[in-house]
Amino acid sequence: MPAPVQRRILLAHIDEPGYTSDIDCYLRHGGYGVMKRAIARQPEELIDEVKKSGLRGRGGAGFSCGLKWTLVDRKSGKPVYLVVNADESEPGTFKDRHLIHQDPHQLIEGIMITCWANNVRQAYIYIRGEFPQGARILERAIQEAREHRFVGRNILGTAYSCDVFVHRGAGAYICGEETGLIESLEGKRPYPRIKPPYFPAVLGLYQCPTIVNNVETICHVKHIADMGGDAFARIGTPNNTGTRIYCVSGHVRRPGYYEFEVGRITLGQLLYEVCGGPRPGRTFKAVIPGGSSAKVLKFGERFRVKLREGSMAEWSVEDIPLDFDYLSACGTMGGSGGVIVMDDSVNMVEALANINAFYAHESCGQCTPCREGSLWMRKITTRMVHGGARAQDGELLQSVADQIAGRTVCAFGEACAWPTQSFVQKFGDEFRQYAETKKTAKPVTPLV
Ligand code: SF4
Repeated sequence: MPAPVQRRILLAHIDEPGYTSDIDCYLRHGGYGVMKRAIARQPEELIDEVKKSGLRGRGGAGFSCGLKWTLVDRKSGKPVYLVVNADESEPGTFKDRHLIHQDPHQLIEGIMITCWANNVRQAYIYIRGEFPQGARILERAIQEAREHRFVGRNILGTAYSCDVFVHRGAGAYICGEETGLIESLEGKRPYPRIKPPYFPAVLGLYQCPTIVNNVETICHVKHIADMGGDAFARIGTPNNTGTRIYCVSGHVRRPGYYEFEVGRITLGQLLYEVCGGPRPGRTFKAVIPGGSSAKVLKFGERFRVKLREGSMAEWSVEDIPLDFDYLSACGTMGGSGGVIVMDDSVNMVEALANINAFYAHESCGQCTPCREGSLWMRKITTRMVHGGARAQDGELLQSVADQIAGRTVCAFGEACAWPTQSFVQKFGDEFRQYAETKKTAKPVTPLV
């Protein structure tokens, strides 16, 4: 592959002063021009453009955005809502916050185009409670857009009216799950709903058809409406179109945000050429490529992968292209685009203890395997790092995790089981050694 060059579409103006708080700056750069042209088109044409674009959701699951819009029940006679998922609570993920802080009008323009295309009259941005600054920036930007008649009554002098509201969450990870988010928006405890029947496209907010899309996904809609679905589909790779923002954290020399065409950069290129490689005197040990719930990859492991053209290839971690399909073929996922890098200074038992503590805290408690299982995994890894490790703890953790995945109401079950399964499978020796060498490393403290 040639040397990676960023393709900045979403981040094109991200460093320009004034973009955060000044609609005039946005307007000087052609802001809301795409929306003006979009509102002159038939909504169905815009839905077709998004379908042709092949855009896949950037929140985690990678579901087709056009298909999501197509599934909306338009015959029910009920209002259709748009909910923008700005809950961004997956550890290692911080791109949506950056988009909100640095270019809020890009998001609002994408929202208004989405609303017009889907005949939405009321849209909500559900933002996590820990982003108070982002909420304030959005509220101000929406007010500016209202004053310019891009939002609100009789938009741009037409008969079309649509308002946008910011709703602040209370800081629960599970509100990133779309039906948990909807419950929270309705003022209830965010218990994810059972699907079927509660697919948001049919029975969403207030039991009405609802589109739930992530911030980055909605920002892309503006650019699809601008360049056309076919042109967008030519960016990236087949079935993995457009660009995406990778946010890299952990043990690299240059962590940060990088926007690349999907699948046109490998993990090795991202970590060595873009992020500057490991810290001096260190080597890479492991990487989680799509937020903490994605399965960990171990440097040195090999993958046999069927390529799109049909031939087989053997890859190392460094060879894996960063797209949804190839990461999945290598047993992990692109998820939220949060790339967490660990070097040889990291003890994997302690890293897993940290992850398990997070998921046990964030389980909503609705279903038994997740509520009890995540708690038990935390108890085991906490005991291990506090001097009580036993030789069989790896197997014990594995058996608990196996009883969670696939047995829960929502995908949180997998999110909390996959880290444990992959850490134990790939670093089993370290778990056994831990029992031998760290047994009395720290005093045992009472478990919460
Ligand atoms: Fe709640 Fe976990 Fe069940 Fe999801 S899997 S509904 S987070 S208890």
